[in-house]
Amino acid sequence: MAGLSFRGVSHAYGGVTALRDVDLDIGEAEIVCLVGPSGCGKTTALRLAAGLEELRDGRIGIGGVTVAGDGARVPPEARDIGLVFQDFALFPHMTVAENIGFGLRDGTAADRGRRIETLLDRVGLKGYGAKFPHMLSGGEQQRVALVRSLAPRPRVLLLDEPFSGLDVRLREEVRDRTLRILRDAGATALVVTHDAEEAMYMGDRIAVLQRGRLVQAGTPAEVYRRPASAFVAKFLGEVNWLHGIVREGRAASPIGDVAAGGLGEGERVDVLVRPEGLHLCDDPGAAGRGARVVGRHVLGHSSLVTLRLDDGNMLRARIAGQRTPPPGADVRIRFDAAAVFVFPCHRDAPGAPNA
Ligand code: ATP
Repeated sequence: MAGLSFRGVSHAYGGVTALRDVDLDIGEAEIVCLVGPSGCGKTTALRLAAGLEELRDGRIGIGGVTVAGDGARVPPEARDIGLVFQDFALFPHMTVAENIGFGLRDGTAADRGRRIETLLDRVGLKGYGAKFPHMLSGGEQQRVALVRSLAPRPRVLLLDEPFSGLDVRLREEVRDRTLRILRDAGATALVVTHDAEEAMYMGDRIAVLQRGRLVQAGTPAEVYRRPASAFVAKFLGEVNWLHGIVREGRAASPIGDVAAGGLGEGERVDVLVRPEGLHLCDDPGAAGRGARVVGRHVLGHSSLVTLRLDDGNMLRARIAGQRTPPPGADVRIRFDAAAVFVFPCHRDAPGAPNA
């Protein structure tokens, strides 16, 4: 039974279509990250699940019960959900303990007090119950917001950009901690983020939205290694975007012939290559296309090398470590077939070069 399910969900604001026929199931204790560029409909999906927006078309189920659509219209407070927003939305005039206790109804006051203490302890905030939100750092406020939403043991947790209000360094630490808390609680969660790396780090699965359509859902490895489109490939990580043409079942491209994935003879194709799928060799007699190093950036754990192919095309290669050929060096390029994706040519795809 799905913890949360969307069936044929479409939504529009006036004339603006925000979601188109979305089908998505989130299993019990599964964490799914909903990603996509700004305006693709992520927050709309979350607000519809929460009941903060009235569903236009389709059906939404929580724990196997229809909460919206098919005549159902369960109000937000009766949906058995917890919500975490990017601004944390803590009540400023209430203490931490009062904030967490706000949604707790069961048991005696003493029971509730013990639960609040236990939860604060679990997130490393023992003794913080009497403080007010303005006395806490951003990361601490985020933890309180998370605990507040988990306290009533909701069936589904909905998190909208929960880390975007935090600075980069703090974000990684808080993200890690949040993930552990969600796993410990066995939470079913839908996490909205525009950050693909964050989604890959946190999600059991990733669902990618493009202009209101769900274009792919799968494990992080599936969507990264087998993207359904050039858009998904580019959204999930850097790519070199080249062009090719199918000849005798292979796509002839600036890096060499690559598998054409069954595309038709003579068809023009986009050839996308992950920078980490390119390997450089400084032996001029080695196999592979010739290129010249025109720049490099040492990033610590890896280095980015900019190359100009003999035909003028530019490429970026990501090399492990810090040892790279120097600018001006002539190299040969090889590629991992698994890091090359071939799609029918779409000049208007986001990120496509205007070639
Ligand atoms: P972001 O990452 O920028 O928050 P998003 O993927 O969450 O974007 P939504 O907020 O769901 O996207 O918006 C989807 C579309 O619906 C956008 O075109 C947006 O302008 C429009 N939209 C969202 N909320 C409203 C509203 N209340 N009234 C009118 N249009 C809206």
